[in-house]
Amino acid sequence: MLGLMQDHPLLISSVLEHALKAHPQGQIASRTVEGPMHHCSYADIGRRAKQLANALTALDVQPGDRIATLAWNGYRHMELYFGVSGMGAVLHTINPRLFPEQIEFIANHAEDQYLFFDLSFAALVEQLAPRMKTVKAFIALTDRSRMPAIEVPNLLCYEELIEDQSDEFIWPVIDERAASSLCYTSGTTGNPKGVLFSHRSSILHSLALCTQDGFALSSADSALLVVPMFHVNAWGMPYAAAMSGARLVLPGASLDGESLYQLMRDEAVTLALGVPTVWMSLQQYVEAHELDPAVDLQLNRVVIGGAAAPRAQVETFENRFDARVLHAWGMTEMSPLGTVCNLLPKHRYATLDERLDLQAKQGRSLFGVSMKIVDAAGAELPRDGKASGHLLVKGPWIASQYYRGEGGPILDDSGWFDTGDIATIDPDNYMQITDRAKDVIKSGGEWISSIDLENAAVSHPAVAEAAVIGIPHPKWQERPLLIVVLKAGKIASKEDLLGFLESRVAKWWLPDDVAFVDALPHTATGKLQKMKLREQFQDYRLACR
Ligand code: AMP
Repeated sequence: MLGLMQDHPLLISSVLEHALKAHPQGQIASRTVEGPMHHCSYADIGRRAKQLANALTALDVQPGDRIATLAWNGYRHMELYFGVSGMGAVLHTINPRLFPEQIEFIANHAEDQYLFFDLSFAALVEQLAPRMKTVKAFIALTDRSRMPAIEVPNLLCYEELIEDQSDEFIWPVIDERAASSLCYTSGTTGNPKGVLFSHRSSILHSLALCTQDGFALSSADSALLVVPMFHVNAWGMPYAAAMSGARLVLPGASLDGESLYQLMRDEAVTLALGVPTVWMSLQQYVEAHELDPAVDLQLNRVVIGGAAAPRAQVETFENRFDARVLHAWGMTEMSPLGTVCNLLPKHRYATLDERLDLQAKQGRSLFGVSMKIVDAAGAELPRDGKASGHLLVKGPWIASQYYRGEGGPILDDSGWFDTGDIATIDPDNYMQITDRAKDVIKSGGEWISSIDLENAAVSHPAVAEAAVIGIPHPKWQERPLLIVVLKAGKIASKEDLLGFLESRVAKWWLPDDVAFVDALPHTATGKLQKMKLREQFQDYRLACR
């Protein structure tokens, strides 16, 4: 027997229409690429998204066509989020930090029809345009007076494109399972693979963000998206903000500590989201200028995800910023959110130290994400907080395959997706990543967590950043090498660092050596590039012990 409820498809256009009715005056504050701040409302975004949808219709864009962006976080990018997906086309957000060859590969693989770009990427577009075979026109996200002087065939101006279009548009009612956006994930091997999100998956995921045990996003928030709109739909925040009426603060291209601090202060930011590396530069700026963020800012939650949140970083947010850290974990294939580390009632009276131990965990899965850990043979391991194994997930916002079937099947016979992460799960459902399967250090038949060692190392006051990789060892198979970047003006020797780690990790985990470098390599999404480090240190030999 079927239920007798109305059958409305979950569509991104319905999120925008809700925003237009429920909070049309909700604000979007953007730092523009041209320089000044720009403030507009959801009503403005809606009006212009409809003009854009009319312009794309006039350009003969068909349902399912891929429309690419090379753009920072800003209001015009928001208009593309709603205008493109709303009309039934697929928004393909390209990460401009990828190598030009990768961008060329991605645009051709996706068969993008149009490409919208911020002025910062004008030279890149000029270089790549001749090689983007399917792109019919390149649209600069600016007005006529600021059009870039570049040699690109079919160069159009965004403001001109939409200005004469009607701001009335009837969104098509399409299948909620239709594709809404596309984002490529750059694995460490092979070509990038496309993850194709649907209207349904995007909406269910965004609803989870708004729940209290998610990010508790509401109309009371002013949310700073440091996480780029070209990285997994800015973790779904543009949709979740339009749902909840949260104010959005979009930082454009200025992601340095000073710019972020100013933005947090001037735009009364209550919630900020980003990867550990951006928070590192914010905290360094505060430290160097002896600022008092607890007084200057209204920040009350910081979401740290994309890589493990170092304990020292969490502690600084708690103590110095008076802000609570929500450690979150996920991946592109998961839209991206899987877990959030919120506290349970039983932690209400936990000491700061106990709380920091808990916040080192990536957190509890949200409804919609099932997870389990298994051993090498695929047998499920106990959820006792001790056993660690391969982390598998399934749920309605997790990929079933890559775009155009690249890489073959990605689910096992029971529909589980292997995240490539190694984790523990405790009886309260807190999951903790101990490593990427390929980064874990295998020493004498046991596993050493490179993440735990890195977290311990960055809590040393002189250490800005740390990476640990396994180095081949004749007796133990692999042993850890600690590679550190020191903070400007600080000194620490190998003996200092190993002495510091001695009280923090098991003795047999202690790195066999310490190397000092000026900088560590990062991927286009801010993760440590362990592959590069392993190449860089491939001739490194450890003394036998
Ligand atoms: P991406 O698809 O580029 O977002 O990368 C996803 C991967 O980033 C995950 O599989 C994890 O290895 C890593 N990751 C994401 N969030 C965290 C976190 N909070 N702690 C540790 N690793 C993380």
